[in-house]
Amino acid sequence: MSTKKRISREEIAKYQELLEGKAAEDIIRWAVDFFGPTRIALASSLSAEDQVITDMLVSITPEAKVFTLDTGRLFQETYDVLERTRLKYKINIEVCFPDTAAVEEMVNEKGPNLFYYSVENRKQCCSIRKVQPLRKKLSSLDGWVCGLKREQSVTRSDLQAIEWDGNNGLLKINPLIHWNEQQVWDYIKKNDVPYNFLHDRGFPSIGCAPCTRAVKPGEDIRSGRWWWELPEYKECGLHK
Ligand code: SF4
Repeated sequence: MSTKKRISREEIAKYQELLEGKAAEDIIRWAVDFFGPTRIALASSLSAEDQVITDMLVSITPEAKVFTLDTGRLFQETYDVLERTRLKYKINIEVCFPDTAAVEEMVNEKGPNLFYYSVENRKQCCSIRKVQPLRKKLSSLDGWVCGLKREQSVTRSDLQAIEWDGNNGLLKINPLIHWNEQQVWDYIKKNDVPYNFLHDRGFPSIGCAPCTRAVKPGEDIRSGRWWWELPEYKECGLHK
């Protein structure tokens, strides 16, 4: 069993300074070099941002690790982009599932659409279907790479290129913090990166099918997620 590589608070501060304003590829390369390619992984939701990172990660190391969470409530289009990504890059994207007994108990107690009835129910569903499987997977890693951008929401405006994830006990690497939507799509088109076709049908941010809807042009890109909740509640707990 491999032991976790430790990184001190001082080292994190030093590298935060070093990586501020650096290109996304440089941030990923730093993480691969610092921890080793098999000790970090991209937690991919198959979003446009995560697809960009997959493309970069695969070009940086042939040992790239990518995993995704299958909540059991995803769109077919999301499985389709998962498959196209596996085929294009010839990588095995690990699929992590929630605990069957916990899902059964929740659904049998509160129904399949519990998330619409209260924030508490919604968080319970996200916890069982996403957060707990993520925690389990992260416990085997030294760092996880995410596609978060500072511009994404009020809850993400103070992101750093690297941050200590105290909830999960490992480093979080955010190579795209300075990117905007246009840069993501320019990269995807230029590099022929597979993407979820729902993006062409008005879905800027795609999660589970019952909790995601299309938005109108000009609307906030997060307004299609958990649209029945106030903006300050709109996190699934993956990025607390
Ligand atoms: Fe459940 Fe919706 Fe969260 Fe998916 S996004 S885990 S369906 S509450």
